[in-house]
Amino acid sequence: MAVPKILVTYRPPGAAIERLSRLGDVDLWTGDETMPRGDLLARVADAHALYSMLTDRIDEELLSRSPGLMVVSNMAVGHDNIDVAACSTRGIPVGHTPDVLTETVADTAFGLLIAAARRFREGVDYVREGRWGRWEPNLLWGEEIHGSTLGIVGLGRIGEAVARRAAGFGMRVIFTSRRAGAAAKNLAATQVDFAELLATADHIVIAVPLSEATHHMFDETALAAMKSTATLVNISRGATVDTDALVAALRSGRIGAAGLDVVDPEPLPADHPLLDLPNAFVIPHLGSSTARTRIAMANLAADNIAAALAGRPLPASVNPEVIPRPPPD
Ligand code: NAP
Repeated sequence: MAVPKILVTYRPPGAAIERLSRLGDVDLWTGDETMPRGDLLARVADAHALYSMLTDRIDEELLSRSPGLMVVSNMAVGHDNIDVAACSTRGIPVGHTPDVLTETVADTAFGLLIAAARRFREGVDYVREGRWGRWEPNLLWGEEIHGSTLGIVGLGRIGEAVARRAAGFGMRVIFTSRRAGAAAKNLAATQVDFAELLATADHIVIAVPLSEATHHMFDETALAAMKSTATLVNISRGATVDTDALVAALRSGRIGAAGLDVVDPEPLPADHPLLDLPNAFVIPHLGSSTARTRIAMANLAADNIAAALAGRPLPASVNPEVIPRPPPD
């Protein structure tokens, strides 16, 4: 095979680029912004492998312009930015990075839960604004975490890791899943339907993939069905929540608070109404952001490319039924 071209849309952390360079000619986007669509379409045209980020849209248009593409490898576990069915139809395996980020994202979910439910943002503002006078018995009461009921929407890898943490906080865990009889391994967690979860949970963590079924799952109706003291944590993808409805629910006190790693849109403009709300705790998609985890993700994404270019099954494939093509002579 002629030396393969590997298009990389953002410099990954660690030594992934060095690894990829041993596999082929790396075409690395080094611009400050997300690789513009026009550049992506132009530079993928003669690529054999695409090392993508969750901000890159891999769709029919892109695939139709890259006839030699042998693999798409996303440096994320979520793959809502990729038309996986279109890739499968073309025999293109799609790699992603499950497992290596699970525990780190679950930590983030718990951090957001505590920060939002216990009103840390208001506390930080209070100190910074010089309003901290005497010790106040009534100051900034939040909601209890320990002993409360946690509702997990989507008990997959990350949802289960959140459930394990909840057990340590003495929480009762309820969850939804499309599969009947899904269960958290070695954990007491009760499967309920979505309506019961909304009505019963003291706090909710969203851990589902973004799909047609989960898009705006938390709309005005769902938010209105939550407890008025409940905290909503989103570590999935921003569009599982209708942002306008969330702003209205937080502003009116219809729900207690929100802890958001992901929002719609991303990036959130600095003048977005969400950021004016004291009961919204928003961070910029930091779920997996530790050095060890991001480097592990970068390496796994490179491993996926190495396997596909060698004609071997990917270590982490979204569409494992697609067998990588043997490398041409
Ligand atoms: P996973 O293991 O595939 O878990 C997803 C779970 O969601 C599955 O157990 C699935 O169970 C459930 N599910 C899917 N559709 C559902 C629906 N309509 N209603 C209820 N449950 C549903 O994936 P994961 O590794 O835990 O990751 C989950 C998502 O988190 C990713 O897709 C990604 O979008 C997001 N994520 C975000 C970050 C971040 O930085 N914030 C990092 C990593 C991942 P059933 O099949 O039984 O329904």
